[in-house]
Amino acid sequence: MSELGDLIRKMPKLEMHIHIEGTFDKKMVCRLAESQGIPLPKPEESLFSFNGLSDFLSMLDWNCSLVRDKETVRELARHFAEYASDEGIVYTEVIVNPSHWKNIGIGDLVGGLIEGFDEAQEKGLPDCRILVSLRREQELDSASKIVDWVLSNRHPRVVGLSIDGNEELSAVSNQKFAPLFAKCKAAGLGITVHAGESSGPEGVVEALDLLGADRIDHGVRSVESPELMRRLHDERIPLDVCFSSNILCDLYTPEAHPIKKLYDSGILVNASTDDPHLFQISLTDELERIALQFGFSIKDLLAMQYNALEAVFCDEGEKQAIRRKLDEFRNTIA
Ligand SMILES: [Zn+2]
Repeated sequence: MSELGDLIRKMPKLEMHIHIEGTFDKKMVCRLAESQGIPLPKPEESLFSFNGLSDFLSMLDWNCSLVRDKETVRELARHFAEYASDEGIVYTEVIVNPSHWKNIGIGDLVGGLIEGFDEAQEKGLPDCRILVSLRREQELDSASKIVDWVLSNRHPRVVGLSIDGNEELSAVSNQKFAPLFAKCKAAGLGITVHAGESSGPEGVVEALDLLGADRIDHGVRSVESPELMRRLHDERIPLDVCFSSNILCDLYTPEAHPIKKLYDSGILVNASTDDPHLFQISLTDELERIALQFGFSIKDLLAMQYNALEAVFCDEGEKQAIRRKLDEFRNTIA
């Protein structure tokens, strides 16, 4: 491993944009399919190789459809916390989108994640919080039921509401779901919105103005609007940027990716992985990859962890604990 790679591995890290649906490992998927007598949709060796976004999304739904009980969700949560620990992740907020899970209700799904993350943290594994996500394609009625469940089952591990899905539906879905976001924000939940990936800068502006976003997942296409860049900078809106995910989804070539431009402009950029197991990328590899591509130093990569700290939705006590870990590491590289 390179010297930089070694430092990245040792650096305490925060992962702010990650979907639990993208963290199934192949072994678990094959075991669940076999125990239910369900044939794999592709040969095992190419199970996580995709032909474009729709192939990727149908695989993701298929993985989730194998989960039918709370115990399996707890196992998935524990596996994820072990992965986070191996990566040197000290804090993460994990997105779960109930609309992907056809065979399990929200109570067992989010309840299973809470229990699994509680058990993991008791064993000294990292603090994993939960963001419950709506999907842009969803009907208002099913989205309202999710929000009602979240608000009537408040738990400190569930820290925010999110939205993802097809950004071509941004304008319609933002109007439709705005009252649900307002309700969650008034109840003290954080708001994070997928925007500025397939939608342009207008998607980010709407996320801020209509949904009250505290931070943006992706947001990379903000680079197309100097006015929006200034706003993100001045209002200190964090962007959870996923370089490899954007490359794999053909949004940019590696050379043309705007992460350096966004970072250099002083916007609160952090680097995240989106769907690490499905994209076969770890957070450590992701940070090394952007360092090699753009010349980021370990100090830059650490600055991104401090940026991520400004994006977190957890309580102040936990925030201070993370800050101390980052400060400790900063002293070793000074
Ligand atoms: Zn995402």
